[in-house]
Amino acid sequence: MKKPSQSSLSRLPQIERLLETDELNSWFSRLSRPLVARLAAETIEEARERIQGGEAFPGAETIVRAALKRCRETARRRIHHLINATGVMLHTNLGRAPISRTAWHSAEAVNTGFSNLEFDLQTGKRGKRKGIIPDLLSLLVGSEGALMVNNNAAGVFLILSALAKGKEVIVSRGEQVQIGGGFRIPEILAQSGAQMVEVGTTNITRLEDYTAALGADTAMVLMVHSSNFRIRGFTARPSIRELASSLPDDVLMVVDQGSGTTTERIPGEQSVSHYLNSGAHLVSFSGDKVLGGPQAGFIVGKEELIQTLARHPLNRVFRPGKTIFSLMEEALIARLNRTVPPPVEAVLNLPFAELQERGKTLLSDLPSGRARLVESTVTTGGGSAPDERFPSLSIELESAERPQGLLTALRELDPPIIGIIVDGKVQLNLATLLAEELQAVKEALNQLLSGKS
Ligand SMILES: *Cc1c(COP(=O)(O)O)cnc(C)c1O
Repeated sequence: MKKPSQSSLSRLPQIERLLETDELNSWFSRLSRPLVARLAAETIEEARERIQGGEAFPGAETIVRAALKRCRETARRRIHHLINATGVMLHTNLGRAPISRTAWHSAEAVNTGFSNLEFDLQTGKRGKRKGIIPDLLSLLVGSEGALMVNNNAAGVFLILSALAKGKEVIVSRGEQVQIGGGFRIPEILAQSGAQMVEVGTTNITRLEDYTAALGADTAMVLMVHSSNFRIRGFTARPSIRELASSLPDDVLMVVDQGSGTTTERIPGEQSVSHYLNSGAHLVSFSGDKVLGGPQAGFIVGKEELIQTLARHPLNRVFRPGKTIFSLMEEALIARLNRTVPPPVEAVLNLPFAELQERGKTLLSDLPSGRARLVESTVTTGGGSAPDERFPSLSIELESAERPQGLLTALRELDPPIIGIIVDGKVQLNLATLLAEELQAVKEALNQLLSGKS
């Protein structure tokens, strides 16, 4: 190995020099000056190690280019707007429900100024952090009381901690599920200090399995919606009405409904009010799935229980801030007035002619032979109707490139487009595109397909 040349090392630029270049300067607004400085330092360090390993000085230009590459890669980890062409409307990896633009604008003043988040305008004194969320939500689902927390996982955990700690909670073996990354019912139960009593089997749990497990220490029966899968074939479980009516007065019936379906319009989905009407004392669900609000969790049901939950110290840990309160009030008002449909409903009610129109618009300018319209399906996602597929149309892209390579190229567009591979071909589902994104998608695709690829 060659000895590191001292003169090569001394030619390495100083960080401050690199930061003065226009190229690196332009990243300050997107990454901050200190972060760009750190990336520049790492680049210089890497060059130093190479020189010490015997390589020649790479040249100042090369070092700037390498630093810029680090900036670009780091900036891609920032949270970005992107185009969801996956055909899964509420995609946990893609931020679930988009917030309506109307709601977003209406909430601006509250968020950019001061607000009465915890101030009673009537009395001029400290007030409760709840606004009219409980009023709106209880009207939407027909409950006595309602409480909003940071997410549904927090909701379930609060219920278990406040009402079942040191006691027994009966759960069917068919409902000991994992939802998304890291929300596992048995683990959440263990963390809360409640004792899980498992009943039944994966496919069959009967009413008698539940009632036989009841004892002096039973605090509640927990039913969990199987959000992301269905067990088919030889299956049975009691209806919630049967189960709820078979429980002693001091045992609570709690349902983790998950998706937050509040209307009866999603096939294969039971609504929150269905569970309440069937005898559930408490139901918890997410605010950013079918409901279409910002990220939040809701607990609805008996007012007395809601009060107990609201007073529990963990409620202080799980309380949302003004951004969520303001956006959620807007979302709930839109649901109640039926002015803006929630994203899932908008997709399910999308006329087929509109999908065809989208397809035509996108295909019109694209180089011929590179893309065609094909039939496909769309799913609601977000822990709702895991088995249901609804008709949709997709653009299928032709490429000499391998499909994985094309998916990568689509992710490198601005805005990135997230497609899927079906039967070895890249498809972009038209149902999950937002109408206002169509033009951007068209331009991005044109750029990609007319280009060198
Ligand atoms: C989505 C879901 C959760 C988790 O909700 P978060 O809002 O993501 O915390 C829990 N239970 C069920 C049944 C779900 O569908």
